[in-house]
Amino acid sequence: MINRVVRVATPIGRRKLFDYLWTDKTWVPIGYRVLVPFGKQQRLGLIVESTTDSELPLEKLREISKVFDDRPVISAPLMKTLVWLARYCHQPLPEVLWSALPAPLRKGQPLVPKLEMGFTVTPQGRQVDPRELKRAVVQRRILETLQAHRGLVSAATLKDAGTSWRAAIKRLEDYGWVLQKEFELPQERQAPQLIQDLNFEQLAARNRIIESLDKYESFLLHGVTGSGKTEVYLHVISEVIGRGKQALLLVPEIGLTPQLIDRVEQALGIRVVSYHSNMTSHLRHRSWHFANNGKTQVVVGTRSAVFLPFKNLGLIVMDEEHDASYKQHEGVRYHARSAVLHRAATNGIPFILGSATPSLETINAANENRVTTLALTQRATRVQLPAVKLVDLNNAYLVDGIAVPLLKAIEQRLKKKEQSLVFVNRRGFSPVIWCSDCKWIARCADCDVKLTYHVTTDRLHCHLCGKSGGSRPGTCPQCDSINVELLGEGTQKVEQLLKSRFPGSRVMRIDSDVSKGYLKIQRDFERIQRGEVDILVGTQMLSKGHHFPGVTLVGILGADRGFFSIDFRAREYLVQQVLQVAGRAGREGKPGQVLIQTAFHDNELFATILQHDYLKFARQELEQRREALQPPFSSFALLRANSTKSEVPKKFLNTARAHAIEILRTQQHPDVRVLDVVSSPIERIAKRHRAQLLTCAANAGELRKFLRLWIQVLETIPKRQNLRWNLDVDPLDFY
Ligand code: ADP
Ligand code: ZN
Ligand code: ZN
Repeated sequence: MINRVVRVATPIGRRKLFDYLWTDKTWVPIGYRVLVPFGKQQRLGLIVESTTDSELPLEKLREISKVFDDRPVISAPLMKTLVWLARYCHQPLPEVLWSALPAPLRKGQPLVPKLEMGFTVTPQGRQVDPRELKRAVVQRRILETLQAHRGLVSAATLKDAGTSWRAAIKRLEDYGWVLQKEFELPQERQAPQLIQDLNFEQLAARNRIIESLDKYESFLLHGVTGSGKTEVYLHVISEVIGRGKQALLLVPEIGLTPQLIDRVEQALGIRVVSYHSNMTSHLRHRSWHFANNGKTQVVVGTRSAVFLPFKNLGLIVMDEEHDASYKQHEGVRYHARSAVLHRAATNGIPFILGSATPSLETINAANENRVTTLALTQRATRVQLPAVKLVDLNNAYLVDGIAVPLLKAIEQRLKKKEQSLVFVNRRGFSPVIWCSDCKWIARCADCDVKLTYHVTTDRLHCHLCGKSGGSRPGTCPQCDSINVELLGEGTQKVEQLLKSRFPGSRVMRIDSDVSKGYLKIQRDFERIQRGEVDILVGTQMLSKGHHFPGVTLVGILGADRGFFSIDFRAREYLVQQVLQVAGRAGREGKPGQVLIQTAFHDNELFATILQHDYLKFARQELEQRREALQPPFSSFALLRANSTKSEVPKKFLNTARAHAIEILRTQQHPDVRVLDVVSSPIERIAKRHRAQLLTCAANAGELRKFLRLWIQVLETIPKRQNLRWNLDVDPLDFY
């Protein structure tokens, strides 16, 4: 009788799988955590697959020591998706598998997280009059507290009863009056109040999706900002949970969407679980567990929630699907959209991609009928889309970077007690510190970027490595001149200018320097909604899907930066960003206005922006990409390398390039192109020198086949002199 060979992924030594023997003939614990002997140690592992042979002689293989849990941590369909993803992105499978799990599970903690304990009164305890416990003061207080609450009360609350609270609870338990229980996910259901009746287009979209609830189909819900996409998601999710299934709602940045969670809970009358990187690993583990045991019907999460182990998943929604934060830029470089497509297809469930400004990839997929388009052409509140106007910087008078017409418009809103939003795409005070005599510019010592001056800390900061670059120089370090100037404007400078220009107005700044932490952001947004703010100044944190009912004016500064980018996606990003920010204006009642400062007012991009005609832009842009053979009409993969030694990355990449050319010659991949090795646009970050090598092909399959062979060779090249490299399949940026 042949023993089975199982292949195991360990969290350490992560690139390859190790073979072990499994002797139980009745089953194989695929997707389970196990303990395996590793040298003299025991290590945690995850069984990926079973086979009958091994590269090693079978008698050399050792046995699995122990199966860890009574359930797999990765179900069979999820395993399929992760194996596919690892192959598609050319990332090591063990790393892909383990990074799909919350940290406590990677460290060998039990599958079911420890849930906090709480206390409640028993039916007998409820009958007791606390005054009977006259002399046992602490017991009396505890009983009173528990009788006053319906649900569980935490130990933290009961501590206040007195120092002997533990002993007191023990006594009450002995009497049979108090019971200790685990906090589970609150199950109380309120009456769902789906807030809106759907309009004709929304209803058509909802019905079309519901026709497909039992099978895989991808939908593009393309609706202008404020057209009621979220309302459609909620109606579909309500149907899904009504059929006893679970739904996953993905958002680009959860720290910014407490409003959304409230809205889902209210509309559906259920408790929602969230999953994102701002949570402690314990809370992530809890959410993972509630998705796994089916206790939660809806999860709202960021891209890593794609890999949650749902018990019975029925729908995945990706809101703001064009957003670049769906791509992971470190570790396992994957795009959540590709992962979801595969997962939805494997599970046989629908996938909704929602956006006012869909990615050109998704629009192209819709053109090729791989995705079904559902359009919402009007704002649900019947408010018109805001009127967009350009302020020509060639002819406008500027005050500290803000054109006078924009200042005037803000003044009008202040008079009418309406809110204004000023979008600035840079944080800090000034992005450039320079000497006007010798042209010296303050740069980071460790990176190839200019330092930004922050007035809040009165220091220079590097936005790439986070290092402080010292205080603001009084004289030029190069020529001793006193003419050291601050150029350009960031959010802090705009905030300062508006405060001094409009004394008494309430200005709030929102950027990653001030908006730290979930609670702070939540409080700030509540203040905005209550009308306690007159002028909002902020970065793209303000543009993502928010609903600010009081904002009737949006000003956009610095949009022109998009015209100077080397990235072929820069135009797409610029149009998306401007339309998204513009979409914050006038969402309820009063019509909104948008003013964009630009020196390129006759650029044809603005023609489509003024008409809010995103599809026209997309058509033109796709045509150009088709001619230039750029994605989505070809596939790219970028090999990046870095090292503390300046020549090492290029040397490695040139070796890699030689191997590539050899593979192309012998294997005949006529379609694949390998470009030249170049320095990265930012040549140095945090003391590491960087270079890159682009490969591409019109046919994605050809490129994948080539990459597979190439990676195998690259992995045999020894990594000397601090070299690190990674392959980015479908890169979204080229920096
Ligand atoms: P989107 O997600 O497309 O930005 P939302 O779903 O947030 O749009 O809807 C924008 C606003 O319109 C919200 O205030 C919402 O309550 C309202 N709304 C949505 N659908 C309707 C409808 N059918 N009738 C009236 N108001 C609606
Ligand atoms: Zn100087
Ligand atoms: Zn730096």
